[in-house]
Amino acid sequence: MSEHSAPPEQLQKLRELLAKPKRLAIVSHYNPDGDAIGSSLGLMHVLRAAGHTARVVLPNTPANFLDFLPGRSEVLCLDRSPDAALSTIRTSDLVFCLDFNQLDRIGGLEEAVRSVATKVLIDHHQQPDTFAEVFFSDISASSTCQMVADIVAGLGMDDLIGLEAATCLYTGMITDSGSFRYKTSTPHTLRVAARLLEEGVDLDTIYSAISDTHSADRMRLLGFALTERMTVLPELRTVVIGLNMDDLEQFNFKPGDTEGFVNYGLSIQGMRLAALFIERPDMVKVSLRSKGNLPVDRFLKEHFSGGGHANAAGGKATEPFQDAVARFMSLLPKLIADHPA
Ligand code: 5GP
Ligand code: MN
Repeated sequence: MSEHSAPPEQLQKLRELLAKPKRLAIVSHYNPDGDAIGSSLGLMHVLRAAGHTARVVLPNTPANFLDFLPGRSEVLCLDRSPDAALSTIRTSDLVFCLDFNQLDRIGGLEEAVRSVATKVLIDHHQQPDTFAEVFFSDISASSTCQMVADIVAGLGMDDLIGLEAATCLYTGMITDSGSFRYKTSTPHTLRVAARLLEEGVDLDTIYSAISDTHSADRMRLLGFALTERMTVLPELRTVVIGLNMDDLEQFNFKPGDTEGFVNYGLSIQGMRLAALFIERPDMVKVSLRSKGNLPVDRFLKEHFSGGGHANAAGGKATEPFQDAVARFMSLLPKLIADHPA
């Protein structure tokens, strides 16, 4: 699929499912990012405007910088409101699964989502599982938000996109595309963005919310990560940053504080791979970013129970922090050798 992410037979199935007012739940992945929440809330606003009851349910609370999104205060997060989150899913007629394609990405929501007979997947990650009855998967789409806008248009519901939905969808489009800098951004991507801007989206507010809402602690943690915890491997053209729990505690770590750290590695001239390891109480989180032909999603799927996109992917390790980093270091030379620049 390329230009438009909405094949007619899937659209037809969805149109029939939405022919009468329904109770709809919309779920997205653990540690929801701008695209996850933006696409979920954007779709929620459209579905409500179409006469449905719709609610967004997430496996954990998103980072604060996304609090400005219209509808955010109504989102049910499993860690804060477990009963409401699970019962909303279990009693829904239909569950939309947005911005993920494996049910193990939604943490404690997995069983409840499995229990709902009809699932609609809208996602742009590689290698989707086939758990959904209605299936929109487009690995070439720059964001799930772009796909939602296309699907809404395909359903003939474009006029139901108002300022609130447009603000949510535009936000996810820019957070997932690096503000349209990655090559996933096509002329069509910019046309969808233009269509959303027509609703009067306030770009200043969105960019300020995304870029200018960090805490001083977070900025100091970034400084520490870059000066004390960054290893540059010029011969492998790789940068590795690792932060353990003591490091994080020293800077009063809050969820979301390390968001974006991994990208700094790639901003060093000549680097083609950046890795970030974060120690969490229950696991070690791995994030990889690459340039050009260096498919990090496949590497993480094979070695760190992960996945994502060819140039941006994540995964996890269960061994102690230093062992996880050491295992990555030992696998690194072969990864690089297998994919010459
Ligand atoms: P991040 O490194 O920012 O957490 O994630 C980068 C990309 O990889 C995102 O598209 C995200 O959804 C995906 N991703 C992150 N962690 C995982 C994981 O554990 N499993 C899979 N399948 N995808 C992941
Ligand atoms: Mn996404």
